[in-house]
Amino acid sequence: MLKSSKPKLPPFQNEPPTDFSDPKRKREMLRAIEKIRAELGKDYPARIGSQLVAKSERKLVSTNPCDHREVVGTFAMCDKDDVEHAIGAATEAFEWWKKTPVEKRASYLLKAADKMRKRKREFAAMMIFEVAKNWAEADMDVNEAIDFMEFYAREAMRLCAPQPVVKPPKWLGKETSEFVYLPLGVGAILPPWNFALAIMTGMTTSAIVAGNAVVLKPSPDAPFVATKFAELMEEVGLPKGVLNVIYGGADVGEAMVEHPKTRFVSFTGSKAVGLKINEAAAKMREGQRWMKRVIAEMGGKDAIIIEPDADIDEAVNATIVSAFGFSGQKCSACSRVIINEKIYDDVVEKLVERAGALTLGDAVENPSMSAVVSEKAFKKICEYIEIGKSEAKLVFGGKVDSSKGWFIEPTIFADVEPTARIAQEEIFGPVLACVKAANFDEALRIANDTEYGLTGGVFTKNKKKLERAKAEFHVGNLYLNRKITGALVGVHPFGGFNLSGTDSKAGGRDYLLNFLQGKSIGERLA
Ligand code: NAD
Repeated sequence: MLKSSKPKLPPFQNEPPTDFSDPKRKREMLRAIEKIRAELGKDYPARIGSQLVAKSERKLVSTNPCDHREVVGTFAMCDKDDVEHAIGAATEAFEWWKKTPVEKRASYLLKAADKMRKRKREFAAMMIFEVAKNWAEADMDVNEAIDFMEFYAREAMRLCAPQPVVKPPKWLGKETSEFVYLPLGVGAILPPWNFALAIMTGMTTSAIVAGNAVVLKPSPDAPFVATKFAELMEEVGLPKGVLNVIYGGADVGEAMVEHPKTRFVSFTGSKAVGLKINEAAAKMREGQRWMKRVIAEMGGKDAIIIEPDADIDEAVNATIVSAFGFSGQKCSACSRVIINEKIYDDVVEKLVERAGALTLGDAVENPSMSAVVSEKAFKKICEYIEIGKSEAKLVFGGKVDSSKGWFIEPTIFADVEPTARIAQEEIFGPVLACVKAANFDEALRIANDTEYGLTGGVFTKNKKKLERAKAEFHVGNLYLNRKITGALVGVHPFGGFNLSGTDSKAGGRDYLLNFLQGKSIGERLA
């Protein structure tokens, strides 16, 4: 039972965005950029239990997407032995961590949120260098990480307290009943690079605060940010062994998923990898005593529908922000805009005009758009631009420059067939497909006709159409008359339908249940 000394926390509130037009904030950001620049190029060991494991030969190198010669950091490249070691350390830690009172567990998240808030610009600067976020995008990423920790700390205290049950009926005799949630065990945490701080922090701390011990393997494209988060957790006194951090690529991730002591896998990333993990986790391994739980949040092919009765300028602005914010490298990014034929030419013209006003450059200089994350991503997006040229009409952008960094212009294709590859496959870059629809029925049909179901938007002033979208647009996160990116923790619980994932709704009241199991206790009294 919870003691009456349960701390009273103020209600959860989202962290507000920073106004960089304020000269004071701008100066703070510039100072933080210089501070982090001076820290680049260092070498970092893995963190396993109470050990720091360095590798003298095998290194994972993280570079600046805006300048591929600039090394952000080097990291111990781990192998299967390290996975074994890390899962062993987490298994040991789980035995005492699960008995640590939830208030204590939550206190580490609250302290970390507080420290991160004080060092917000520094964390933002790390993402400017490692994943090329502009200032506002980096600021939002840090805010979301803080929000996740504040939100999940409160949620853990709610869910790890005794839960309501129906009073045993009289005819059962003198009996009591209790229902409690318990943690699962050791978790493999496999985040993506795109919300380098927010998603990684949310996936890790949600599992930890619920009483699990974890092995975190950050994306090879964002190990620096994850390392700085791990250092922060150490600073606030999170006991060693609860969070183990190892580095590497797919082989390390696979070994984590396959390990018989892994109780659950929390993955966010591409559809291809998510499906592979789901399959590998389903297979029983020698010595395994449970069916592994898999939380897999995957990609999207998100659409905005624009109707003739919409506020066209607002719709165009929201489409541009949703398609090209962070160079379209958000799972929620708009990659298809489905436009009614009556306004089609006008909307396409306005989209081209607005895209022309975007700036592209080094993230340090705070442009509207910056480099895409890596050579691999750059090549994949370039391939899709070529496919687009053969499938549709290029009306804007399409030019790329890899001489210093991985730069791709905002790119718009018009007259795209709904079944074209660029209208069906996730590109994860600044490429927007404009599709024509004869009416709202057809627009909804096209919007729903992909294998994904993550975010979607509708612009119309017609109430009936909005109601139909609520009922028929099959996505986990629907937005009406606003942009389709920028989900806020607690306000817009996030997760997708169909092959966008397991709809775990990060930042929602159901999320921590993914890392808990319920125990029902009935007792006959003397
Ligand atoms: P990714 O699938 O390449 O990698 C994700 C993580 O899985 C990384 O840590 C990676 O190292 C690891 N991994 C790769 N292969 C593995 C394997 N075989 N076994 C185990 N782990 C493995 O994804 P990414 O490029 O980092 O991220 C971009 C993708 O993430 C996009 O598809 C995007 O839509 C998706 N995403 C989804 C959400 C969401 O909430 N639905 C949020 C952000 C990003």
